[in-house]
Amino acid sequence: LSARELAAVRADFPLLERTVRQGRPLVYLDSAATSQKPTAVLDAEQDFYERRNAAVHRGAHQLAEEATEAFEGARAEVARFVGADVGEIVWTSGATAAINLVAYALSNATLGRGGAAAQRFALAPGDEIVITEAEHHANIVPWQELAARTGATVTYLPVDDEGRIDTSVVDRVITERARVVAFTHASNVTGAITDVAPIVRRAREVGALTVLDACQSVPHLPVDLHELGVDFAAFSGHKMMGPTGVGVLYGRRELLEALPPVTTGGSMIEVVTMTESTYMAPPQRFEAGTQMVAQAVALGAAAQYLGELGMDAIAAHEREMAAELLKIADLPGIRVVGPTDPENRLAVVSFVVEGVHAHDVGQILDDAGIAVRVGHHCAQPLHRRFGIVSTARASAAVYTSAQDVAAFRESLAGVRTFFGVND
Ligand code: PMP
Repeated sequence: LSARELAAVRADFPLLERTVRQGRPLVYLDSAATSQKPTAVLDAEQDFYERRNAAVHRGAHQLAEEATEAFEGARAEVARFVGADVGEIVWTSGATAAINLVAYALSNATLGRGGAAAQRFALAPGDEIVITEAEHHANIVPWQELAARTGATVTYLPVDDEGRIDTSVVDRVITERARVVAFTHASNVTGAITDVAPIVRRAREVGALTVLDACQSVPHLPVDLHELGVDFAAFSGHKMMGPTGVGVLYGRRELLEALPPVTTGGSMIEVVTMTESTYMAPPQRFEAGTQMVAQAVALGAAAQYLGELGMDAIAAHEREMAAELLKIADLPGIRVVGPTDPENRLAVVSFVVEGVHAHDVGQILDDAGIAVRVGHHCAQPLHRRFGIVSTARASAAVYTSAQDVAAFRESLAGVRTFFGVND
């Protein structure tokens, strides 16, 4: 982005204008946790409530028709944005809910729900669920729970010393017993982007389902789910300029059609008698109850906003920000956890300041108006792999400027002096 383009982008985000800590300009470097929202998204949500609010899919009146159109229009917008068909997009409350939906649908299939079509999804003792050492807890715990419910075993692909998923061992780790392979597209700790193809190739070879955690990739890279060839993918609205409370489960059409529902009730049934019920086709089968209509509409606006900026332009700008952030590796006593080359990684940089606790690093930066995240970032196994408990993490988005990163580097350079740590 040129300076003028970046200034225009920043002007779209009202929150970036505020000050913190007694009048300091906010330097927001926590977009991997949640992104800020452009006016287009805020307006879309407000406009929905002001002019079109109604329950979708069932009203006999004009408002309900307009609300349904906006809701389904947003689904189409999001589908286009990630290279999927509209019927393959299930609204969920977020990525965590989306991954749990898959895990619970598979356990319902194991219990015999979903009839003959779902039997191929059943898991048995001795079957394997493969995850990776780089996962967010949202892509670990639901699989441990599924394993506990079905007798399956969790195994994992390790990461290398840069935090990249080691795809050289896929043939050994993903065995003939693998039924599910769940892995992240990009790490929320190291920023490493996963080489998806060898994992999908091997999973197909052994007949395992693939579940991609696309939380960090969809907001920052061009993503085409059909091209990636995964079976399922999960991502959250709030990390891609959209509202909280809405996310997406992508599922290949024929898989969604064969899977039994998880949450049941209104809006997902065809016929209900006092003893049994039949269910609608996907995606509605997985969307019981009154939907998060305003949030979905606003997420559609977010996808449109990102699409108009262009994901290639966004990714290029963020690569520059990654290079700027990674300069901290040259500061004395700073250890970057993850790849130090800005290529093939996101602008998500976690680091350790030797001799200073991550929470103290966060506090010093916060005093200067710089927002970073500290802790284990919901990835304890990955931290354990590197022999550490916590890191501080700076992460960028398309609205991040080189000045933001310079302010961060300058404050960080003073942290060890402040705590009297000597080299
Ligand atoms: N996976 C990754 C890689 C993430 O970064 C996050 C959010 N930190 C999640 C899953 C979970 O997303 P949510 O909390 O929005 O459900």
